[in-house]
Formats: sequence, C-alpha cells, structure tokens
Amino acid sequence: MTSDNNVELRVRALESLLLEKGLVEAPAIDEIIDLFENRLGPQNGGKVVVRAWTDPAFKARLLANATEAIVEMGYDAVQGEDMVVVENTPEIHNVVVCTLCSCFPWATLGLPPVWYKSAPYRARAASDPRGVLVEFGTEISDEAQVRVWDSNAELRYMVLPERPAGTGAMNEDELLALVTRDSMIGVTRAQNP
Ligand code: FE
Repeated sequence: MTSDNNVELRVRALESLLLEKGLVEAPAIDEIIDLFENRLGPQNGGKVVVRAWTDPAFKARLLANATEAIVEMGYDAVQGEDMVVVENTPEIHNVVVCTLCSCFPWATLGLPPVWYKSAPYRARAASDPRGVLVEFGTEISDEAQVRVWDSNAELRYMVLPERPAGTGAMNEDELLALVTRDSMIGVTRAQNP
C-alpha cells in the first residue's frame, strides 16, 4: 500500500512538472489516462474471445490473421505490433510469455500484470510451463501438449481459451464474464459457469 501511494505521489509530481515546463498539455495527459483506463484492457480481449466462440467465420479470420480480425472489432494495436491468436483445445494448451521483458497485447489485454513481468515467470514459463500452470491452479493432462509462445516487440500473442462446457444457452454478456485476462494469457482456463 505504501509503495502504491508513493507511485501515485510521484506520478502527480511528474505530471505537475511536465505541465509547468510546458512539455505536455493537460488534454494530452487526459487522453492517455482515458486510453489506459477505458479503451484498453481485457474487456476488449474478452469481446474478441466471445465473438470467436459464437461466430465461426470470425474465429476462422481471427486464427488466420488476428491483427486484421482484432482491428475489425475496433481495437487497434497501440505499439504497431502484429497479433497472433492461438487456440486452446483439449489436445493443446497454449501459454504466452515475454522471456526478454514484458511485451503484451495492450489493445486487447491492457497493461501486463506484475507477475507477467517478473523474472521467475519469464524464466519458468519457458523451462517448466506445466509447473507454472500448476501454480496457477491449472491442471493439464499428460496427454495434452503445452505450447509456449514468446511475445516480442513486433509480435504479441493472445490465447483463445476453450469455451467451457454447459454454456450453450448463455448470451454474450454471460459468456464475457467467464473470460478472464489470465485465461487469455493461457495460465488459466476460462471460468466455468
Ligand atoms: Fe518484451
């Protein structure tokens, strides 16, 4: 909590200094805050997933060219990166990491969680993905294959989680509530209804 307060204070101090020196204008800062608070985030990725679960033609486009399919839904890449979406099935479980730093698909998942940026996750997601998954409470059968995808500055991966069983009668809002950020990184599954 203390460190959070410190961050907030430091950000406010920086903002005042930048404004005072005329280096930025207040509307530009408001625009950036609005971007991160309202227009980026896992709610966007969740809508992409629900559309893929409910619209087979969209799902085919998403798996063939995720960058275009995601732009089609109105979510533009923030850093000009390309997107690849990998589909989880009973046979293949995909997990995303950035082993080098913390590359993450901001437009669809927002800012990366702290653990995603941590050295242990970055190292162990590559060397012991099944062990990492167990720590997230995700059991993968021995028959299933675990694939690890290393995001970088040019290419960001997102997981299309499996649609949970027993959700056939759910509407889009109900389905959206099952899609978590972590399930789109691949460390967990979509929630069961
Ligand atoms: Fe990175």
